[in-house]
Amino acid sequence: MKIYKACKCCGREFRTEDIFVASTKLVGIQSFAPYNLLSLELRDCLCGTTLARKLSVCDNSSLILVAA
Ligand SMILES: [Zn+2]
Repeated sequence: MKIYKACKCCGREFRTEDIFVASTKLVGIQSFAPYNLLSLELRDCLCGTTLARKLSVCDNSSLILVAA
């Protein structure tokens, strides 16, 4: 089975996006709009390493944008 994301630091594996979201702590959103149609959601692994998840701009209505 393909793993959604793995932490390079502690080796923890997140099998699905849902597990990744449930197992990590939200740090903030980094938006590149309008230059890039994707935003990055930054989440901390339990070991403290920050991992990024790509978000589509369409999802932004439900997100709180963090000022850089
Ligand atoms: Zn980790």
